[in-house]
Amino acid sequence: MSETLISLRGVTKTFGTGQAAFQALKGVDLDIERGDFVAAMGPSGSGKSTTMNILGCLDVPTTGSFIFKGHAVERLNRDQRALLRRRYLGFVFQGFNLLSRTSALENVELPLLYRGESREVRHKAGMAALEQVGLADWWDHTPAELSGGQQQRVAIARAIVTQPDVLLADEPTGNLDSERSVEIMELLTDLNRRAGITVLMVTHEPDMAAYANTIVHFRDGLVERIDDKAYA
Ligand code: ADP
Ligand code: MG
Repeated sequence: MSETLISLRGVTKTFGTGQAAFQALKGVDLDIERGDFVAAMGPSGSGKSTTMNILGCLDVPTTGSFIFKGHAVERLNRDQRALLRRRYLGFVFQGFNLLSRTSALENVELPLLYRGESREVRHKAGMAALEQVGLADWWDHTPAELSGGQQQRVAIARAIVTQPDVLLADEPTGNLDSERSVEIMELLTDLNRRAGITVLMVTHEPDMAAYANTIVHFRDGLVERIDDKAYA
């Protein structure tokens, strides 16, 4: 049974006003099923990150509708969107964004600290997340003591520590060599299949997109084509 988790309908996004106005999204329609692994591809500037930021409740459409778990997100206020984000979404960025003087475990525990969880709950969930990404033995190391691939895995552990429905990753392998990239893709595949997390990823690389079940091709602020392996 498939369940539509995310629906975008006629989503536009305009940055700036007047002469400087730029329409980054020109009417994006997209449905994402729960449990899917989706890769967004397309030329630089085609609107991939803008779409991810909207899906991640970090930004709102200028016009159009974004339904997530039955909520019309464009009608929510900033605080309501933040709650949705904290409860259901996890983020991974190209640049890892870890706190540098802080251990892997403390980095991973951070979203739970914001949620006001107790030290004991944070510790247990943090270690479980590090275990899931294969870094339990590295819990007390700072980012500087870890390789790029390990740092990205810590960032993924931080993103999944809250057990999100959706993991959003914007060019997660952009700063990694091909061997490390494959490890990250295998980890994302594992989280998708075994933990049932819906994964939305942006990538430039066809080799990385090949791990996804669905590939959404962006061009000039629109979804140009969707390739679905299930129907290939
Ligand atoms: P992609 O991720 O596909 O490379 P983006 O979604 O980041 O593309 O950007 C789409 C277009 O919108 C680009 O032309 C970019 O310059 C523009 N853009 C993105 N964010 C902003 C912003 N905050 N202000 C102005 N223009 C922006
Ligand atoms: Mg981008």
